[in-house]
Amino acid sequence: MNERDSETLAGICEGIGLSPCDDPADAEVAILNTCAVREKPQEKVYSRLGELRKLGGPHGGPLIVVTGCVAQIDADELRRRGADIVVGPRCYDMLQSALEERLSGCAFIEGGDRPVAECLPAARASKLKAFVNIIYGCDNFCAYCIVPYARGREQSRRPEDIIAEVRDVVTSGCRDVTLLGQNVNSYGHDLPEPVSFAALMRQADAVEGLDRLRFTTSHPKDMTQDLIETMASLPSACEHLHLPIQAGSDAVLEAMGRGYTYAHFRSLIEAAREAMPRMSVTTDVMVGFPGETEEDFEATLRAFEEIRFDQAFMFKYNDRPGTRAATMEPKVSNAEKQRRLLKLVALQNATSRVINVATEGEVFEVLVEEADPKSAGKVRGRTRQNKLMIFPGEESLIGELVNVRAVKGFLWGWTGERV
Ligand code: SF4
Repeated sequence: MNERDSETLAGICEGIGLSPCDDPADAEVAILNTCAVREKPQEKVYSRLGELRKLGGPHGGPLIVVTGCVAQIDADELRRRGADIVVGPRCYDMLQSALEERLSGCAFIEGGDRPVAECLPAARASKLKAFVNIIYGCDNFCAYCIVPYARGREQSRRPEDIIAEVRDVVTSGCRDVTLLGQNVNSYGHDLPEPVSFAALMRQADAVEGLDRLRFTTSHPKDMTQDLIETMASLPSACEHLHLPIQAGSDAVLEAMGRGYTYAHFRSLIEAAREAMPRMSVTTDVMVGFPGETEEDFEATLRAFEEIRFDQAFMFKYNDRPGTRAATMEPKVSNAEKQRRLLKLVALQNATSRVINVATEGEVFEVLVEEADPKSAGKVRGRTRQNKLMIFPGEESLIGELVNVRAVKGFLWGWTGERV
């Protein structure tokens, strides 16, 4: 979500004649686009802000703009520490005028639940792959999560605006589109004429020239059989499902307010794998949620052994002030969270490697994205399963879809040869 927002922020800057520079000391404007989901990235914002404040340079230090979720939830603190402009994630359409006025004091442009503006410019980071927002905000209020406070309630974009953007990026040469939302499965319920996410997928798939269609993130409680069948039936829908499990223990899932049991989660994965046998499945998980016992943690380990995810984003729980979980007891000690995390990471890494080694010899379609920065004469790209493949090839292949045989499997993907 933040990567896509950064493209919008870059587009706004370009629109008023700003261009990127390498050294922050030369900058007229510095934008910190922030994430509040975990504690560490939020702390980094303040240390980076302090570093920028000390800069001199030709403009006497850049005008400092803070955007993103920290801007929404921590505006007073940012102002106190020297931010010049603070803009919440629903208000980027107002950034241009704030920048142009070159405010001398601090501007806090906060959005709450204000509708997100359409038609903001974007300087897209990739020509081949694009993120397209479909729904902003989240209504779920999982006990640990700051997102609903920072990004407001759910607001679906109109399907015609989404499809126009998909058509636009495909016309500009994009081959791989990811539909983006905190919870894409709840897309469309708030529109005057409700549209399901599966129906939106069908509309996007019909855009001529689109090779690959993905989405993130999906919520297990809202995932439907209709969506699984739709994915299996659409030529462009990629065989990759990112479904956050968060925990394998029903007691912890309930305390988190996730709205599903492990058995339900597992049945969704089984249905998806049955419908799409070459499907890769990835997940998000946290260890050390308040009250998580050793038995709860073992349930998460068991879930990972049973499901065998292709990859996982694994974190230690930490308190986000203002969330329900921040007040829950008992807390798990940091040392214990670290022990659990290392154990889970070791299990997952072994699984990822085994899955990739087991598929050596298979042929995958690869979208070639770039020359491999580590080895001359090789290029790399992603399979439809969103795994990395590195193989010998000319840079003229960049932008092409080619068939590549996986020769050697690693934790991160494969090295291969073109067939
Ligand atoms: S679904 Fe839960 S974890 Fe995901 S953004 Fe919403 S509140 Fe946060």
